[in-house]
Amino acid sequence: MKQVLVISGKGGTGKTILTASFAALAKNKVMVDCDVDAADLHLVLHPDIRERFEFRSGKTAKIDAGLCSKCGKCAEVCRFESVKDGFEIDAVACEGCGFCAKVCPAGAITMEENISGEWYVSDTEYGPLVHAKLGIAEENSGKLVAKVRQAAKEMAEKEKRDYVIIDGPPGIGCPVIASMSGVDVAVVVTEPTVSGQHDMERVLEVADHFKIKSCVVINKWDINPEHTAAIERFCGAKGINVAGKIPFSKQICESVVKGVPAVKICAGEPADAITKVWDGVKNGA
Ligand code: SF4
Ligand code: SF4
Repeated sequence: MKQVLVISGKGGTGKTILTASFAALAKNKVMVDCDVDAADLHLVLHPDIRERFEFRSGKTAKIDAGLCSKCGKCAEVCRFESVKDGFEIDAVACEGCGFCAKVCPAGAITMEENISGEWYVSDTEYGPLVHAKLGIAEENSGKLVAKVRQAAKEMAEKEKRDYVIIDGPPGIGCPVIASMSGVDVAVVVTEPTVSGQHDMERVLEVADHFKIKSCVVINKWDINPEHTAAIERFCGAKGINVAGKIPFSKQICESVVKGVPAVKICAGEPADAITKVWDGVKNGA
């Protein structure tokens, strides 16, 4: 079983377009959307939710008013000023350190797990999809990414799937690191712009740090052939394979609007370019 991560240093480079097309091209796979803060793979794969799970992460103090003697010790020790007048906890301000529960002489404080989001196992036309939604203003997206990755891997192993295809989160922070661990190849999608190359270089550095094999795909390569050549030179110097160049295509834009993987409705060069990338990845790009 091979785990393929599609990633880019920032959003909007065509990462999800490529992942959705991989989903349509690959046989016998599980898909994962690791962009738990702003998931969008479902807009193209149209999942039918089969199972729904709560994601619990972190703890918040809770005071039992019936037991509380209003001694004020909890407010005294709380560094985050989370104990409000009247001895109620401000759940947003509480960092869950548990100090107040330790000092409370009445045993009135319990630490309760937060429900920070949900994750789902869904069916799609192209196979199962594991995806998630982090609650508004919730943190710990790295943990949620690790959760959906683990669930997808277990499903793939149990069902003897050949691939896990992962739509990675944007950026280079904790969720990206969680999405990278244990993958066989990271497909880094970029655009031929100065910022696109900069973001690509940052994500390649992260992959290199974790000893993850990478290749690069240049999306809309023909909007700036000179910069495309610069990216190719950079990759050549670093020994990184450019697995494909996808031209700008109105058909691809239309596929996004229609919510269909690009390779399903595009003809000619754009579809051929994406198919070539998948063939390369499949064969060890
Ligand atoms: S320490 Fe316990 S008993 Fe004292 S005010 Fe806080 S919750 Fe109430
Ligand atoms: S758990 Fe920590 S942060 Fe939350 S109220 Fe208690 S002392 Fe304050």
